[in-house]
Amino acid sequence: MNFSLKHSDLRDIYDKVVAGERISDADALRLFETKDLNAVGAIADFVRQRKVGERASYIINRYVNYSNYCILSCQFCAFARKKRDADGFQHTVEEIVQKAREALNIGITEMHIVGGLHPSLPFSYYTDMLRGLKQLDARLQLKCFTAIEILHLAWLAKKSVKETLAELKAAGLDSLTGGGAEIFRKEVRAAIAKGKESAEEYLDVHRAWHQMGGRSTCTMLYGHVESLADRVDHLRQLRALQDETRGFTGFIPLAYQPENNRIPVQTPPTGFDSLRTIAISRIYLDNFDHITAYWVGLGMKLAQVALSYGADDIHGTIIEENIFRMAGSKVPQLQTEKDMVKAIREAGRVPVQRNTFYEPVKVWDNTGAQDEAAGAQPSAMLEKNLATA
Ligand code: SF4
Repeated sequence: MNFSLKHSDLRDIYDKVVAGERISDADALRLFETKDLNAVGAIADFVRQRKVGERASYIINRYVNYSNYCILSCQFCAFARKKRDADGFQHTVEEIVQKAREALNIGITEMHIVGGLHPSLPFSYYTDMLRGLKQLDARLQLKCFTAIEILHLAWLAKKSVKETLAELKAAGLDSLTGGGAEIFRKEVRAAIAKGKESAEEYLDVHRAWHQMGGRSTCTMLYGHVESLADRVDHLRQLRALQDETRGFTGFIPLAYQPENNRIPVQTPPTGFDSLRTIAISRIYLDNFDHITAYWVGLGMKLAQVALSYGADDIHGTIIEENIFRMAGSKVPQLQTEKDMVKAIREAGRVPVQRNTFYEPVKVWDNTGAQDEAAGAQPSAMLEKNLATA
């Protein structure tokens, strides 16, 4: 047994986890309330090891925001703009396809595409975008749209959510993104994202997609006005839907970024808070295979540490992140594959390049000996191509 657990007052939770029992909401709250971060981390690391072994993954992907115009004004959002704003933008389908074309040269397997709820683009814009990207390369996986965007598109198309998802799937949609979950409790949503979909609507969109055979990720935005009990309640609802559909591929806790918005939170979540949130997610969400330490919100250094606190994924190259950056994140807009592989190796894990569905694309050895032999200089190629993109 791990040293930090031997005399810990969390020993009963550890014993439960080792026995393969599910922890309760009260257990999760105790884990949130303790200051014994190492003990929480040790339990999470045990679960991570039992669930996925020594592998830790990353993805070579490219983010694109098709537009930042949005008809809503969520209080926490620093990304959305109105048509009158000078820094609003929207891309044509051709521009998005061109971004994908450039990124394919550096080996992306996924385009991750979200935007605001645009006031006037027709439904055909979205299906044309998906078709255009699949025509460029049918193997390119398209992870697009949050649940609220799906509701907006259903309204645009004047169709049910199921019909809308079916049309998007036929046009090339591979996976929904997990964004927009925020915190499910109604009072918190009213305080940070008034007008946005309810928890039930978020879960219903994902449920409908899962029932069609689709897969998605899910998220939780933590570290603003919510209580620790609100976090547990949020995790409870995700665990319940996963019991029902098994459609979530992974969970991504998102650290709140405090700048350029209207919520009076002075400091972003601390390293302590982020590590315990990731660790407790791993322990509580026993029906999820993958927990991501999202480097955009954490910084790569903390994401690397999180690999010892339950996380088994550090997300991706990303290339052009706008949403966190506009909310004050100071991290770079991209990571190279080389740096991600290095971070994973240093943490003692075996780096694995994954695709959208967390399936392995490339498994690295843990020494670096194969890097040259595999022709694997994608980071150099990434840097070169970014210089010209
Ligand atoms: S969070 Fe999304 S829905 Fe809310 S204002 Fe920002 S872009 Fe619009």
